[in-house]
Amino acid sequence: MQLLTDGSADNPILGFCLRIISQHGENWPPTEDALAEEFVDWFRLRPVLTRTAMIELCKAKGVSLSFAPLPQDIRGVNCSFEDRKEIVVTERELAPFADSHTLLHEFRELLEHQFIELGHPTVRTKASLEVQAEIFAMTCRIEAGEKEMPAFFEMVSKVEKRWLRYLGYASVLVFGFAYLYGCIYIRQLEEIGSEAHG
Ligand SMILES: [Zn+2]
Repeated sequence: MQLLTDGSADNPILGFCLRIISQHGENWPPTEDALAEEFVDWFRLRPVLTRTAMIELCKAKGVSLSFAPLPQDIRGVNCSFEDRKEIVVTERELAPFADSHTLLHEFRELLEHQFIELGHPTVRTKASLEVQAEIFAMTCRIEAGEKEMPAFFEMVSKVEKRWLRYLGYASVLVFGFAYLYGCIYIRQLEEIGSEAHG
């Protein structure tokens, strides 16, 4: 009956953080890789998500997500007050998948607030949280992509014509490579995007 007594039943983030602490408490903090891996499963992150899907996934975790115009240099903001948790992501998307990246960055910061409240901060300063949140977002997206790859290959393997099947494999690899490149260089792609927008 632990779920009912620690308040995590109506605060999914609390439940998630408590679980991470119970798994990694002896060896705190967990690596960003380990945290990302747990998060991708828990959040049900997919490599490609529409804004509507992102809103739904957040809602399931007790976070209200919205897209709104934000000042030029701000990509996202988050706030948590008692049980209310909110993330706002900038409306203008400067690079493909920048929405997911920003959402994950802000979500990592929400997780950190919860870890701090539970007496288990994972970073020492606000500046290093910014860096960790970037690494977390990138790692989660790579992890989500990696999970999806076997399904794509499986799909292609069912194509009967050999040349079409090879073309399919090549497409999956090219898409996979572009996706991975995007995960790693998202900020650089955004810079290019914003210059192109003037
Ligand atoms: Zn941040």
